Amino acid sequence: MTAETDRVVLVIEDEPQVVRFLKASLSSHGFRILDAPTGQKGLIEASAHVPDLVLLDLGLPDMDGVDVSRRLREWTSVPIIVLSARGQERDKIEALDAGADDYLTKPFGIGELLARIRVALRHAARAGDGEPVVAVGDLRVDLAAHTVHRGGVEVRLTPIEFRLLAVLARNAGRVVTQRQLLKEVWGPSAIGEAHYLRVYMAQLRHKLEAEPARPRLFVTEPGVGYRLRTE
Ligand code: CA
Repeated sequence: MTAETDRVVLVIEDEPQVVRFLKASLSSHGFRILDAPTGQKGLIEASAHVPDLVLLDLGLPDMDGVDVSRRLREWTSVPIIVLSARGQERDKIEALDAGADDYLTKPFGIGELLARIRVALRHAARAGDGEPVVAVGDLRVDLAAHTVHRGGVEVRLTPIEFRLLAVLARNAGRVVTQRQLLKEVWGPSAIGEAHYLRVYMAQLRHKLEAEPARPRLFVTEPGVGYRLRTE
């Protein structure tokens, strides 16, 4: 039995086909699935059963998925992965800024889904521990000591480069929106300054990627933000 055996995933989704796919694929990996076809029912199920993770469709018949994630965040830090269709870019970003953890764009494969779920559950388990060292491949970020090593060699970063890296490292594996990055690194007044990110992400890649032009660690999520890739 794996540790995932008793994990409960609440699927808030109105498309029966998607629900069937999620039920079949996740239960074969040891998850227990609850499902709700509307936002209202989803909110009720979430408070009644306190799931370990929520998969949330953005296009629900009764309410906006963004509002569902906002309502959940009023009382729970349960990981939320939003399921979005093409053309829901704005909603997706709004949901992430409202506290959702990550997203998947339909159609998605089971491998991708499981990887996202693993990252979200791991992150939830770690939250509050204040784990100071994040290691990804040959990259080692010590958030407490403010040091960065690549392949055992210390890399010097400017304070802003380090702050940017720290936000991505604390969220390793998950997407972080442009808005979240700008707010955390430069402050709320910089939320419109997306070019800061382009400049500083290029600098980070230059210092920390083997091939800066073909980033493997610091990946761009087009139109959404950036992700420090862990798998
Ligand atoms: Ca839908």
